[in-house]
Amino acid sequence: MRTKVFTIANQKGGVGKTTTAVNLAAGLADEGVMTLLVDLDPQANATSGLGFPKEPGKSLYGALHTEDKVDVDKLILPTARKKLSLIPSEIDLAAIEIELGQKENYLLQARRCLEPLREAGTFQAIILDCPPSLGMLSMNGLACADYLLIALQCEYFAIEGLGQILRVVEQIKDSGINPALNLGGILMTLFDSRTNLGRQVINEAKEHFTEKVFDTIIPRSVRLSEAPSFGKTIFDYAPLSAGAIAYRKLTVEVIERFLKKSLTPEKAAAASVGL
Ligand code: ATP
Ligand code: MG
Repeated sequence: MRTKVFTIANQKGGVGKTTTAVNLAAGLADEGVMTLLVDLDPQANATSGLGFPKEPGKSLYGALHTEDKVDVDKLILPTARKKLSLIPSEIDLAAIEIELGQKENYLLQARRCLEPLREAGTFQAIILDCPPSLGMLSMNGLACADYLLIALQCEYFAIEGLGQILRVVEQIKDSGINPALNLGGILMTLFDSRTNLGRQVINEAKEHFTEKVFDTIIPRSVRLSEAPSFGKTIFDYAPLSAGAIAYRKLTVEVIERFLKKSLTPEKAAAASVGL
């Protein structure tokens, strides 16, 4: 079974990348998928969103920085969920944006660090949460991904911003840096059913990107915005909320689209009926 790496990126800030990374990772773990969440953002929102402190020395920074062989296993922290682990972030990771630029193979450093995990096959899914830029960290995230998942806010101008990241995907593929990279899907987030605009933006996204747009739409929900301040996923903070239901649905969609073959038949069947 091959590990699938999902990178959640969009250079636009505040569009629901981290909320998606945390809750999708937790959702996958709940469905029986061995999942690793890697916080690649120096803001460390995914780290604190899961209730972990931002501690110097505990991010991927050291591993990205060094030329030596690193034991990345040592950075992996267990979480309250048996099947969910975390490589946290902290502010040191910010320095890597500059340092990586001076390295040879500067786009392939995250890949180098995570490759042993892929080879070991411990995890069925690795989810990378990227910062709101197309800098070195996001590019490294893309260079080691099988699938880019884009969180796209249901707002005017959201789609216009996609050209840039999609061009980067093509460059990374075509240059041979990561020929396996694909746009996995576009997740419409922060949907407000009270306005027509959200619906229009979804329709526009579906016209452009057809089946790449996930059927699941993440509603704007106060519960989703409150959960990280308690260090909890939406499933633990408000399990019956609209946000929890939406992220459960997304989880099932992701399993159906990308992971089904790598699950046991029982789990795959359970996932397909939305259990
Ligand atoms: P950044 O670009 O800074 O990393 P991001 O794209 O990761 O941001 P999030 O941190 O997930 O975005 O979300 C931005 C803010 O909006 C957060 O305060 C989050 O709690 C809130 N938020 C995210 N999704 C929703 C939602 N569906 N409903 C309500 N609030 C949300
Ligand atoms: Mg974020």
